[in-house]
Amino acid sequence: MNWKRAYSALLTQLDGLRPDLSSRELLVVLQSWLQRQLAVFSSALQEDYGLRSYSSLDLARYPIDGSSLNAAEEVRQLRLVPPGSVDGLAMRVRDIFWSGLTIESGIDCPRFKDSELRILMEEGTQQLVRACDVCLWAETRNGEHWQPGGRLVPPTIEQLELWAIADGGKPA
Ligand SMILES: [Zn+2]
Repeated sequence: MNWKRAYSALLTQLDGLRPDLSSRELLVVLQSWLQRQLAVFSSALQEDYGLRSYSSLDLARYPIDGSSLNAAEEVRQLRLVPPGSVDGLAMRVRDIFWSGLTIESGIDCPRFKDSELRILMEEGTQQLVRACDVCLWAETRNGEHWQPGGRLVPPTIEQLELWAIADGGKPA
C-alpha cells in the first residue's frame, strides 16, 4: 500500500468515530492504523519520527486525558489539509502522538514566552526535563539549561507520580 492509500484508510477509520471523540479515542484509532500501515514508512522515517515506538507503546500508561490535544480539531485538520508527502504524513502522525502523550507544565518558555513548556523525560537517566516545542529550549527540574544527554520521550503516568512524590506530593 502506498502512503496516499494509507492516509485514505485513516480518514475512513476516523469517519466511524463520534465528532466529539476524546483524545484517548483518537490515539487508539491512530495507533491501530499505524500498526497496520507501519511498512508505508521507510525505516529512516520510522526512526526519525518515533513511529515504531508510537505503534507499540501501551497508551493506558500515558496521561492522555490531561494533554492539550484537541482531538476534534486534529481530525478536522487531517481532513482539511492532506499531507503532501510521506514525510509530511509521518510528521503529522508524530505531532498528534506528541501532543496527546505529553502534558504541559504550566510554565511559560523563559526564553521567548512562545509556548508552555512540556514535561518530558530524558531516556536513560529518567530525569524530568521541561522543553519548548517552538524554540527547543529545554531545562532541568531546577530551571537550569538542559545539556542534552539522551533522547527526550513522553513520561508515563507512573513516572510523573514518582516525580511528584520526590517533590513532596506536589504535581510535577
Ligand atoms: Zn520557547
